[in-house]
Amino acid sequence: MRLALIAHDKKKDELMAFASDHESALSEADLMATGTTGKRLMEVTDLDIERKESGPLGGDMQIGSEIAEDDCDGVIFLRDPLTAQPHEPDISALLRLCDVHDIPLATNLASAELLVSQIFN
Ligand code: PGA
Repeated sequence: MRLALIAHDKKKDELMAFASDHESALSEADLMATGTTGKRLMEVTDLDIERKESGPLGGDMQIGSEIAEDDCDGVIFLRDPLTAQPHEPDISALLRLCDVHDIPLATNLASAELLVSQIFN
């Protein structure tokens, strides 16, 4: 089970709390994250996470590439819909690839809860 974790800046605190709450379940997965999200996750948990580039520098596209190659089984991407993101085209491409490859994608805490509970229970 390879899972990608991403959060926009205003959602990072929520993802940190989520990962702490679900640390034991997440520790069973092969985790990757965009650069800043992954750095912060490893500061607040003991999870071992492969860090890609930061989102604006191509991290979303690196995760998209794994989805295109069927190497990723799920994505938790806590998006901030209220703030314009400089790399919006990359974000849209990542979401599109999840739909093309039928990869479960959670974009808020409620769906992230469902995804983790389904995958790890
Ligand atoms: P970050 O990237 O984890 O490096 O902040 C996330 C994003 O903006 O897509």
